[in-house]
Amino acid sequence: MFVFSPVTRALPPHHAPGGRFRNPWPDAVPARLGGLLKWLLVHRPTRGRPPRPHPSVFPRRAPAFTSGRAARDDLTLTWVGHSTFLIQIGGLNLLTDPMWSERAFPVQWLGPRRVVPPAVALHALPPIDAVLLSHNHYDHLDAATVRLLGHRHPDARWLAPLGLASVLTRLGVRRVLELDWWEESRLGDVAVGCTPAQHFSARALGDRNRTLWCGWSVAAPARRVFFAGDTGFHPEFAAIGDRFGPFHAALLPVGAYEPRWFMRPVHMNPEEAVRAFRELHASRPLLPGKPAVMVPMHWGTFWLTDEPMEEPPRRAADAWRAAGLDPGALWVLAHGETRRL
Ligand code: ZN
Ligand code: ZN
Repeated sequence: MFVFSPVTRALPPHHAPGGRFRNPWPDAVPARLGGLLKWLLVHRPTRGRPPRPHPSVFPRRAPAFTSGRAARDDLTLTWVGHSTFLIQIGGLNLLTDPMWSERAFPVQWLGPRRVVPPAVALHALPPIDAVLLSHNHYDHLDAATVRLLGHRHPDARWLAPLGLASVLTRLGVRRVLELDWWEESRLGDVAVGCTPAQHFSARALGDRNRTLWCGWSVAAPARRVFFAGDTGFHPEFAAIGDRFGPFHAALLPVGAYEPRWFMRPVHMNPEEAVRAFRELHASRPLLPGKPAVMVPMHWGTFWLTDEPMEEPPRRAADAWRAAGLDPGALWVLAHGETRRL
């Protein structure tokens, strides 16, 4: 007689029972509602908050990305603002966490507002081949932007961490692929890998951590880039570099870190971002004379947290210098700026 016995397999450590997700590392549990209320109702009223800066504090450049598609060996980065980049790599045009709205919130009359408008008009984008999403927070997954892109670039492939496909298809996106940490997919000869990140997800009441969060590695034959999404400092940057590197460019979040007692588990500060950069490249450096570049992101766009909005790149530059890294390899982009590698 044949007896079928189901195989019980242990869940990966970042999968929580009941279909939710979690950060599998020590000291990586984000504060919950009590912490949020303490921050907004006690900490801010007593400590204050730097004023909303004037947009002119942040330099802007006219974008100079390649129209159509760039050469297959080129890597071109254009900063639209916050965590939104146009990445031209392997002859493809990719967008990261596309966010073109005025406010990062379910309604446009409330919630965190932009200080700097998107530096590339959505209608001016070249044909988009793929969109990489890191998680479902409103400053990274914006419904209005997703609808517009889904309409204008219907053939684009959307790569998202587990749980986001239903949200995206409801917003009109046709081609979605969900990946778990360490899984890979291919866009022609470009390999895209989903990487761990230390963060959380939430979009509505009761949906906390029902969808996953991640970073992305993009490896074309000639160039590799890492996009970290939103993340606190965690112990797996070296493993990411080991598995998917060496990276020519690492796009790392440096903003939204104060107050530390609340933000540390979910957002790196600039010093941690520089440390993450070093760990990413610890075991697989590029050839000498061709240093990898770090591109700070997640700063200077939305008025979100309690550090001065213009502070993150200054502190990143200090940490960069203190670590003895190549001064020309910290690329603090202006809004709209395009750089080629
Ligand atoms: Zn987030
Ligand atoms: Zn964010």
